[in-house]
Amino acid sequence: MSKPDTLLSPDPMFRAAAAKVVARIGADRATVPNAIPVHDPHDDSVIGYVPDLDADQALEAVSRADAAGRSWAATTPRHRADVLRRWYDLLIDNADDIALLITLEMGKTLADARAEVTYGADFVRWYAEEATRHTGTVREAPTGGAQLLTRHAPVGLAVLITPWNFPLAMATRKIAPALAAGCPAVVKPAALTPLTTLFAVQLAVEAGVPEDLVQAVTTSDAGAFSNAVLADPRVRKVSFTGSTSVGKVLLRLAANNVLKSSMELGGNAPFVVFDDADLERAVEGAFIAKMRNGGQSCIAANRFLVQDGIADAFVEGLTERLTSLRTGSGFAPGVGLGPMVDHKAVHRLQGLVDDAVGRGAKLRTDAHSYEGPGSYFGAVLLDHVPGDAEVATTEIFGPIAAVQRFSTQEEAVARANDTEFGLAGYVFTESLDRAFTVADSLATGIVGINQGVPSNAAAPFGGIKESGLGREGSTEGLEEYQEIRFYNLALRSTS
Ligand code: NAD
Repeated sequence: MSKPDTLLSPDPMFRAAAAKVVARIGADRATVPNAIPVHDPHDDSVIGYVPDLDADQALEAVSRADAAGRSWAATTPRHRADVLRRWYDLLIDNADDIALLITLEMGKTLADARAEVTYGADFVRWYAEEATRHTGTVREAPTGGAQLLTRHAPVGLAVLITPWNFPLAMATRKIAPALAAGCPAVVKPAALTPLTTLFAVQLAVEAGVPEDLVQAVTTSDAGAFSNAVLADPRVRKVSFTGSTSVGKVLLRLAANNVLKSSMELGGNAPFVVFDDADLERAVEGAFIAKMRNGGQSCIAANRFLVQDGIADAFVEGLTERLTSLRTGSGFAPGVGLGPMVDHKAVHRLQGLVDDAVGRGAKLRTDAHSYEGPGSYFGAVLLDHVPGDAEVATTEIFGPIAAVQRFSTQEEAVARANDTEFGLAGYVFTESLDRAFTVADSLATGIVGINQGVPSNAAAPFGGIKESGLGREGSTEGLEEYQEIRFYNLALRSTS
């Protein structure tokens, strides 16, 4: 592999401002003997510390949240809505600082980090609005003589486990509906990116969320954490976002106490481009669906399935977009691709490229392999990827665009669905009929139609098959934290 040109360096002003945010949340030095160091993926330097809490300390957090939860459940929906709205306002007031922290600990570009703040805060605003709605219904029994009243009660203490790729949005997408529904929460952020979540929880408290209601537990031993807290009878809900393999472990643990479970798991999104697609729109959609967050998104386009007639032009357009990207620190002006989250990710991505090329895929870009320090991997386009290449069968989670070609619609749909995952899919065509037919045929929870970023706080995000259970965002996301009960009210006829 050829070596790349120089990586872009961080703007020292942004880097210094980010360090100040770490100090603001009190994470700039280790305050306990066993602390987890947090690293900047740009140069592997230590940027802060969080406590490494053990299982007993996690259970103490459960106790504190549980105690605070009783009065929270008794608050009015309007009160909860007002507190959430103040939290939203604080997230927006502090958007620049939150974005700096996200870039510092996770590596994504400042532009992507700012977009995450908008997206993440939107869940808080949405559930501030939703808290006062969706509290129950009244229905007439079809045979008459009774009213059926549904009551939406808080499910109880929720354990929320989040990944590193969207350290703000994955936390707010869970905490906001839990609070709106009237539940206390224990949130465990990923050990790679705990600072943003700690900052968001600190702002929630400033906004009026009772001090103990949302407990952030940082730990390097996620297994000990989940074994302890999911066995505690006070816990009634687990909501997890992360890999399918860990999701399965958590579902097994959740089975012991029959916990209400939401699982937002991995994906292998097909991105289907038909000959009748608008080329420019398809290339732009592909670029954003692949490269947002450096490709480290669960709904990132994983397999580009492109029809024969448009394939050469599409590959040329996307290659041009990818090669024009500047790689470097998320704090560098003009940067389009930041570092990967860690070195493990870089080795995995290199292995995927080597495997695909070894099986006959054509490499259309170069300069993806960088020398450390820093966990860098440049954007790659692989054309003519065989269906059995690892890059086509597993979740890439990085900036590798893998293109396969097809000739018929039936073939495209069959190949798109030939995976155990079912999170997101994309279809690009100018035919409305085809758009709906193909969208209906894709076995995914989410479909972007001529759209590379389908996520929205008002939409029910989630997967089918091994991509998960339940939905986040929208009205459905609130129900994940509610038990729906019904009363059958008998009515005696008065006539
Ligand atoms: P991961 O599964 O390794 O970790 C996710 C979280 O689970 C982290 O907080 C981790 O510490 C914790 N964890 C790991 N083992 C655990 C255990 N035994 N018990 C309890 N917690 C445990 O995933 P990751 O590498 O952080 O994130 C990448 C994965 O997340 C990808 O597969 C991606 O598709 C998925 N993801 C899915 C969505 C979605 O909405 N469906 C969104 C973002 C990321």
